[in-house]
Amino acid sequence: NLQGTFELNNGVQMPYLGLGVYLSEDGSEVINAVKDALNHGYRHIDTASFYHNEEGVGVGIKESDVDREDVFLVTKVWNTEQGYENTLKAFDASLKRLGTDYLDLYLVHWPKEGLYKDTWRALEKLYKEKRIRAIGVSNFMQHHLEDLLTSAEIVPMVNQMEFHPYLVQQDLIDFCTEKGIQYEAWSPLMQGHIFDLDIMKNLAAKYNKTIAQIVLRWDLQKGVVTIPKSSNKNRIISNADLFDFELSNEDVQLLDGLDRDKRFGPDPNNFDF
Ligand code: NAD
Repeated sequence: NLQGTFELNNGVQMPYLGLGVYLSEDGSEVINAVKDALNHGYRHIDTASFYHNEEGVGVGIKESDVDREDVFLVTKVWNTEQGYENTLKAFDASLKRLGTDYLDLYLVHWPKEGLYKDTWRALEKLYKEKRIRAIGVSNFMQHHLEDLLTSAEIVPMVNQMEFHPYLVQQDLIDFCTEKGIQYEAWSPLMQGHIFDLDIMKNLAAKYNKTIAQIVLRWDLQKGVVTIPKSSNKNRIISNADLFDFELSNEDVQLLDGLDRDKRFGPDPNNFDF
């Protein structure tokens, strides 16, 4: 069931598989990726103002066979847009580019030092005004979340983090679970590096599935929302074909055991952009 969901702490249902569109170029590339995904069962699209393709995402949704209200649409406020007033403006600008009048989920893209609490107040205001169905963060380590929670009125519904077998951060997952924050994986395919691992090749052969399907199924069985990126129609369709098999507990633990604190993206404790 491609439309399977996890329930967020405010009761909103979030589809556990979405299409990531980072580096999908605005225009025909992203328009076709979004259309192909929605027309083949995806109900969740993950973009960001930083990706400069919100307009194409909006066109893709409109040109697809799926109604806007059946799509879980996510975008993010970029670092240079943070702060209370700036975030309110950034939100309006994102909506305009996306060609919609509400969001399903709006995320603070990175924990911009000195600003993210003000940014969060803006998200709380927009949420209370019912312009966003759920609000969350991305790249927040435990200390960022603890700091945010000292002033937050609303507990974030989601934390979107780099997550794959080389970067599990189980303590952070457990902390989020305890607080009612849904964990979500970015770069679930290790930006393509997952395909080089022998252990993944072996598991793919064992289950007669692709490497992408194996690792995305692992996300699902760990309770983690996942947003693999592709703009290739066959891969988009194939990546979502992961609901007809189950990894054994031993194989879930095998993948957990690959953890080595290895990042392919920036470190949330040390980023400067
Ligand atoms: P990813 O791990 O999804 O890997 C994408 C790469 O894998 C691409 O090169 C793609 O061509 C390739 N690929 C996809 N399916 C394949 C298949 N079946 N066979 C072979 N190759 C395949 O990397 P990502 O794009 O970095 O992450 C996914 C999404 O997460 C992004 O698009 C974006 O939406 C989100 N993201 C968020 C943040 C953040 O800071 N919040 C950061 C990075 C990415």
